[in-house]
Amino acid sequence: MDCLFCSIIKGEIPSAKVFENEYVYAFRDINPNAKVHVLIVPKTHIDSVDRVDESNVSAVAEVLKAIPEIAKICGLSNGYRVITNVGEDGGQSVKHLHFHLLGGEKLPVRLA
Ligand code: 5GP
Ligand code: ZN
Repeated sequence: MDCLFCSIIKGEIPSAKVFENEYVYAFRDINPNAKVHVLIVPKTHIDSVDRVDESNVSAVAEVLKAIPEIAKICGLSNGYRVITNVGEDGGQSVKHLHFHLLGGEKLPVRLA
């Protein structure tokens, strides 16, 4: 399977790593939308939140568990936003589940 983020996790494509453990990889977004814009992904391939089920939810839990530490590494003591886009209407461009961690400034425009 050809997946950009699987290739990044494997180190086949370079990335600016922020955090890594057994289950989770986090790296700077190549086209940042905020002063801090990090992508946090499970090392196992899951297409999106729409594909989360009993068999893979523990990998997603590991991603969520890592967020406070990653936010701390990024200096986001004043808050941040976590976003995951799903499918066509959600504007998902890379089909490997990822959470955008955004912050480092007061964030504009919110839909929810
Ligand atoms: P999506 O639009 O799927 O929610 O988010 C995909 C994100 O991946 C985008 O913010 C985009 O800038 C980022 N991205 C796409 N290709 C690369 C890449 O090769 N390296 C990195 N670091 N980020 C990428
Ligand atoms: Zn993948």
